Amino acid sequence: MPGDSSTNVVVLGSTGSIGRSALSVAEHDGGKRLKIWGLSAHSRWEDLVEQAREFSPHAIAVTDPQSAASVRSRLNGAGIQVLSGAEGVEELVRHPETHRVLNAIVGAAGLNGTIAALDAGKVVALANKETLVVAGQIVMDLAKKGGGSLLPVDSEHSAIFQALSSGARSEVRRVILTSSGGPFRGRTRRELENVTPEEALRHPTWKMGPKISVDSATLMNKALEVIEARWLFDLEPEQVDVVVHPESVVHSMVEFVDGSVVAQLSPPDMRLPIQYALTYPDRCNGPSRRIDLTRAFSFTFEPPDRETFPCLDLGYEVMRRGGTAGAALNAANEAAVERFLNRTIGFLDIPRACRAVLDHHPFDPRPSLDDLWKVDAWARQEVARWRI
Ligand code: NAD
Ligand code: MG
Repeated sequence: MPGDSSTNVVVLGSTGSIGRSALSVAEHDGGKRLKIWGLSAHSRWEDLVEQAREFSPHAIAVTDPQSAASVRSRLNGAGIQVLSGAEGVEELVRHPETHRVLNAIVGAAGLNGTIAALDAGKVVALANKETLVVAGQIVMDLAKKGGGSLLPVDSEHSAIFQALSSGARSEVRRVILTSSGGPFRGRTRRELENVTPEEALRHPTWKMGPKISVDSATLMNKALEVIEARWLFDLEPEQVDVVVHPESVVHSMVEFVDGSVVAQLSPPDMRLPIQYALTYPDRCNGPSRRIDLTRAFSFTFEPPDRETFPCLDLGYEVMRRGGTAGAALNAANEAAVERFLNRTIGFLDIPRACRAVLDHHPFDPRPSLDDLWKVDAWARQEVARWRI
């Protein structure tokens, strides 16, 4: 690395839940290993200004053009370059002095940042799982070709990544992703008919942004993660299992051919997988909470209720079909979650809308990036005009 030994990190989506946790990791590090080199956000520009003042990055990008003007005037004279729009994000990640990009943007909006970073040969710490759900094949091909690489930030995938080092790739039998079960674990379909956004947003173990919180309540989050695992670790659908583990301490497991199961454990605190992706291959002391395994406690594992939470099987279906199916499912889900949060559809309409879009979308087994964006736009329109 040029200059000193610290890593220049660009945080995309720095005002969100993952973005703020990443800055807390950087703050704890105190500039020893990690230098915040760039930040990006879409809205909440006041928070971005505050972050820029605290971390003095080389540049920041504001994707919402209206907010960019306000940020520029506030940071006048601070010596921080203010870029705007999607081009601003691209410039930030491609900068020759950018070493690692943490992609913590929510939704398909994160895809271009990942693609630009990989194309420029950067290491991408990927929280934006939608990147792989929408365009897994294209992104993984690009990672192989462009000299860049992906490191998982999602806690389950970080756990799998860590456990995989216990054996050779050919010795892996399957991976087992854990799921907290979300706030509605144990409920029947009937009981979910009238749940409100407030109830769906109340996650029992994790504090996260609104979209992923609703995804955790429908189990769509696990569906997206199953697809994410398929691409990150090159797995067959039969090699990916899901088990509900409400304590969220065992973050996932890998079973090897000899029957050994290797797990990674830590309290539910995203700062640990974020830090690991930023300092990998090194491990260092950080701000994350620790578990005390010497006190008495027990863990629960149970199979997921696939009837009450049909989203999970949509993930398996998409994993088998490939092509445009991931882009269709992801966009339908983003649009449906937004409508649920705006109270124009009910909770159970989310899987219904996703099912309908998947069934009717113009499937293409080998789409280009352009084709994927067309499917994305079409799926969003379908859900927007959906009457219930
Ligand atoms: P969030 O809603 O809290 O934050 C999203 C960030 O993205 C914000 O900074 C926002 O300004 C930015 N953003 C929103 N729309 C944008 C757009 N159109 N263009 C550019 N930037 C945009 O979300 P979050 O909970 O931090 O999640 C971020 C990503 O990380 C998601 O893909 C999520 O699935 C993944 N993830 C989150 C958690 C968690 O604990 N929150 C855990 C694992 C994975
Ligand atoms: Mg996760």
